[in-house]
Amino acid sequence: MSSAPASPVALPAPLPAVYAQRRAALYARIEPGAAVLVPAAKEQRRNGTNHYPFRQSSDFLFLTGSHEPDALAVFTPHKPAAFTLFAKPRDLFRENWTGPRMGPAEAPAAVGCDQAFSLDELTVQLAKLLDDCTAVYLLPGDDPALDAQVLACLSRLHKQERNATRTPRRILDLSCVLHELRLVKDPYSLAAMRRSVEITAEAHLLAMRHAYAGQLEYQLGALIDYVFARSLGTPGYDTIVGAGPSATILHYTLGQQPLLPGQLLLVDAGCEHQAHTADITRTYPISSGPAAPVAFSPPQRALYEVVLHAQLAGIAAAQPGATVEDIHQACVRVATQGLIDLGLLAGSPADLIASRAYQAFYVHRTSHFLGMDVHDVGQYFPPPDHRPRPLSPGMILTIEPGLYIRQDAQLPPGCEAFRGIGIRIEDDVLITEETHPEFPRHEVLTRAVPKHPDDLCKIVGTAPPFVL
Ligand code: MG
Ligand code: ZN
Repeated sequence: MSSAPASPVALPAPLPAVYAQRRAALYARIEPGAAVLVPAAKEQRRNGTNHYPFRQSSDFLFLTGSHEPDALAVFTPHKPAAFTLFAKPRDLFRENWTGPRMGPAEAPAAVGCDQAFSLDELTVQLAKLLDDCTAVYLLPGDDPALDAQVLACLSRLHKQERNATRTPRRILDLSCVLHELRLVKDPYSLAAMRRSVEITAEAHLLAMRHAYAGQLEYQLGALIDYVFARSLGTPGYDTIVGAGPSATILHYTLGQQPLLPGQLLLVDAGCEHQAHTADITRTYPISSGPAAPVAFSPPQRALYEVVLHAQLAGIAAAQPGATVEDIHQACVRVATQGLIDLGLLAGSPADLIASRAYQAFYVHRTSHFLGMDVHDVGQYFPPPDHRPRPLSPGMILTIEPGLYIRQDAQLPPGCEAFRGIGIRIEDDVLITEETHPEFPRHEVLTRAVPKHPDDLCKIVGTAPPFVL
């Protein structure tokens, strides 16, 4: 193996104060007297007694720091116990297999809640918690079983109003407060994003060095996922390694084709570390063998430069006050002109943009928010006017234009050389203050991963064959 793990390997988990600050920020944003319900993720059975790898719900983890499956956090900041946790009771027999777990008795010390109950007591205790609340925040439809429990609880409280219970009268969408909080990264989230980006950059560079013919797509994918794993990471989404025409399939993950010299390779991979994920795509030529010279063919390079210039225009548009739509349009303008110049589209740029003719080759939008989830939370068209939201410092988004000339595309005469080429270039961009001393308006977090064609060709295929 050619590169050593970066140091330090793992970012320490957040201190309890980080979660306390996040809860305080949530309490400051909810309606007075309201309760907030945030369920943990559930263990998912794969077969028999065998489960899928557990990944905590990002919302639950963001507010509690707990990786406890099947738990429920209830926040009632206007009551003496502001943070109540419901957890599965301990099962000392099962702990022979799973190791010691947290139960309700351990929860206050472990998670910092004010009180904790067994999930067996949920019906009784939830009624006590919701009694005298003005409203209940949850994510309607996200956890249908919880929705049903809450509705049953409200119905019971309603029937007891002769006994002076006070039933919450409204159910409010928690995403409008909690996801807005997650959208603007706090210092810990930003540190986790930077570490995820570092590990991801290391993986992409290693993949580039080993991108030569004679391998299969999944073998290069294994190398990427190995770099993630050795730094306490996992893929934040299924790693995409697509050689040649595979690159024109947007979420291509089967990946059993051989890498052939002369083809382009598209790699879209992001490491999730401390529950935050990077999301980087690079496209580059496959080398004919270790240390053999590498070059884009003229049509590959021409199309690549269109995507690169579109992406640079998108990045230049990323600033406080701009919108995701502004960034998309900046990319689309450059890409459409480029497609005209290459003969792939004919007509005036304005007409081709208005009719969305560019979508024959530029099939997806350009950006998504990024954070604990790869397609992160936060509203793109928030109320009250539902217009594209102006970006603000602390938000992280991807900028990832792509052009895909599918094998079965309808192409104008003279454009056959572009058939089967798929190119995407994706960086992760932090919006910064206009007056930021080092990175005014934005910082490209993923700038350590080369994307200029000449820089790529200097790296690709330079590693000797690896033996693990
Ligand atoms: Mg991606
Ligand atoms: Zn992406």
